[in-house]
This record gives sequence, structure tokens and C-alpha cells, in this order.
Amino acid sequence: MIPEIELKSKAEIKEMQEERLRETLRYTNTHSKFYRNKFLKNDIDINAIKTLEDLPDLPVTTKDDLQKFNADFICVDRSEIMDYSTTSGTTGEPVFFGLTKKDLDRLAYNEAISFSCSTISSNSTVQLMTTMDRCFMAGLAYFLGVHQLGASMIRVGAGIPELQWDNILKFRPDYLVAVPSFLLKMVDYAEKNGIDYNQSSVKGVVCIGEAIRDADFQPNKLTRKILGKWNLELYSTYASTEMSTAFSECEYQIGGHHHPELIIAEILDDENQPVKDGQPGELVVTTLGVEAMPLVRFKTGDMVAAQHKPCKCGRNTMRLGPVLGRKKQMIKYKGTTIYPPALYDLLNDFDEIEHYVIEIDNNEIGTDRIVIKLGGIHVSQELMSTLKDHFRAKLRVAPQIEIISMEEMRKLKFGGLSRKPVSFIDKRKTLAS
Ligand SMILES: [Zn+2]
Repeated sequence: MIPEIELKSKAEIKEMQEERLRETLRYTNTHSKFYRNKFLKNDIDINAIKTLEDLPDLPVTTKDDLQKFNADFICVDRSEIMDYSTTSGTTGEPVFFGLTKKDLDRLAYNEAISFSCSTISSNSTVQLMTTMDRCFMAGLAYFLGVHQLGASMIRVGAGIPELQWDNILKFRPDYLVAVPSFLLKMVDYAEKNGIDYNQSSVKGVVCIGEAIRDADFQPNKLTRKILGKWNLELYSTYASTEMSTAFSECEYQIGGHHHPELIIAEILDDENQPVKDGQPGELVVTTLGVEAMPLVRFKTGDMVAAQHKPCKCGRNTMRLGPVLGRKKQMIKYKGTTIYPPALYDLLNDFDEIEHYVIEIDNNEIGTDRIVIKLGGIHVSQELMSTLKDHFRAKLRVAPQIEIISMEEMRKLKFGGLSRKPVSFIDKRKTLAS
């Protein structure tokens, strides 16, 4: 099931997007208090914005705007809203999103074409290993998408390997939707309990929340570790509440396909100008066809690089590489720029290390200091020096390594209100310039 527009030429796709952009601008200017004010204040004539090249003339929308003016973004009467979702709140106060009937239909369409892109069909059975409650939009999207595809779903929820395996053995799903590092816990449980996972019904996993490939689309360490044990197809999917749209990999597994009928994607540098093709930059999106809370040029804070070459699957749409990290979490270390996921990937290489938290601090002159906290293990002098060598060789950084108790680790990882365990703590102070 490939939407017709995604097989069309780049020029036709662009033309469709521009028409929908003009619609979105008219709609937000009429119905969104936030955008009406923003356009007025910035002296924007929305009728002058006609093409994608005109986008830089429009102001950007930030996470800060969403937090400060949340209610002003809503374009519909309260009675029209059928679902309230919230952002995860990993970076600040959670923001709520209302969804109308039309938005839920759009979300279902988005997830159906995304699952279908990742080879799931109406004959598939999908085991959902993430939460559906706690105002989590993705969980709802997966359910609606499977429903629209005509496939079946087993809603097990997050965690508990034993319960996951019970359901796999009972209902024989061929796909899982899961956080990839959890698959290692599944393998561990299976090995301890005599389950032959390579003979199980599962053949593919839609992987959320963590990168599974390097920037050149080769399997990263986490993926190699999983595939070294369990013979699976892993498909990356990247989405957020704000985008209400997913970028999912096809059978060729070379980046998440853009669905141009649902979202406009720009990749911008620090000055909000487009980066050169293939260069990393911040993903900035304009949602298309959203009724309750459309966003215009929203800065996602995620650093990505795009590929524009057509894919062997026939789709002519842009593909997004793995999220390199959050822009805010960029670490500047002696002339090198790195993001926490690169550090996670390196730590994942060590079987002995199960729990870690990375803490970043800065000194008076603004140089970042990296502290890696390891919990609950006995770290030999040998492992310590191998770790340090690895960081120096692969990432050209020399982090400080600290061993803490399991109790301290639990507090750091699960102490906050976040829906996900915390792996990165930023203690940097913004320095006055
Ligand atoms: Zn493809």
C-alpha cells in the first residue's frame, strides 16, 4: 500500500505540498490565535508565501512557544476534541495536543502507511510493547494504524519479558513494536527459560525511541548485538507528538520515508537556513491536514540528515537518517561535536555495563565535561581502561567514569516524572555572552 503521491515525481510532490502549505497558512491565520498574532506581529502577508522556497520568510515556532501559549494553538472548539495527548516532557513541561475526529483519521492513515512501509500487511499480527495510556499519542497511533490496515494487535504494553513471551507463544505475532534495547532483555529471558527465540513466530520489529543505524545506515552496535542473537528484521520509525507523523523505514532499511501529504520537512542550520543536501541540521516541520493543533515551521530540536536519492522500493520521497541527538544536548568537547546517542552506542558495546547515566557539566570557560556513571557492577581496572581507550579512539573524548550504587542509579534513571528512563542529565549552565 504505497500512496500514489509518494510514487510521483519530485516536482509533482512539491506542487502538492505547496498547495497544502497555502491551505495550512490560510487555516492557521483564521483559526489559531497564536499564528494570527505571530503573523501580524512579524508583518507576514500569508498570501505572499506560495512555494517551499518562500518558507524562510515565515517565523519559526519553538518548544518554548508551545509551552507558553499552549491553548492559543488550538483551532477548534473544545467540543470537537476527541483525544488529549501530551508530549513526553523530557525537555520541560509537557505540552498537550487535542485531536479531532479528522486528526484521529489522519493519525490512523499515517500509521497504516508507515506500518505498511515496514512490510506489515492486513495478514499480520502485531504485538504492541509500548504503553497506550498516559496520554501517549504513539501508542494510540499504533493501535489506529493496525486497525486501519486490517491487521491484528496484541496490546501487551511496556516491559515484563515473561508476559511478552507468554503472548508471543500464545498468539504468534509476526511483528513487534518495541524499544530495541528491550529486545536484549527478551533474549536474556528466553535463554534463561528455554525459549528458542529463533524458532518463534516473530520475524520483524518496528523499533521506536532509539537509533538502530549509524549515519551511513549500517547497523549500529545495539543492532549488531540484537541481530547477533536473534534473526530479525529491524525497521526504524521516528515520530513525535508535535509532528503527529512518522518517518518509517521500508524493506531496504535506509532511513525513514517522508510522507509528503502529511508534513513539510526542512533541515536547518543555526541561522534557520536550509543545510546543504545530506548535511546534518535541525528538523523543522509544518504539519499538513491537522485540524486541532497544526504547527507551522516547528523546530523539533532533533538533529538529522536527509537523503534525497530515490529508494529501490519505488517511493520518490526524502528519507531521514537516524536522529543524531537533540540539538540542546549537543556536547562541545575540545573542538569535537557529539550527541549523547553516540556515547550510548559505545557503552552498549560492553556486555558488562547494564545501567548507565551520562552527566554533562561545564566549567567557567564553557568547556563541557562528560561524566559517565555506571551502576551496580564491579568494574575492574582493565574494563575501566578499555572503556577509556574506546572513548578516545572512537569519539576523541576522555570522559570521567564513576561507579555508583544501584540505588543511586535507580534514583537517577527513574526518579523524575518522565515516561521513559533517564539516560542523560544536563547540568550545564547557559553562560552569559
Ligand atoms: Zn524505500
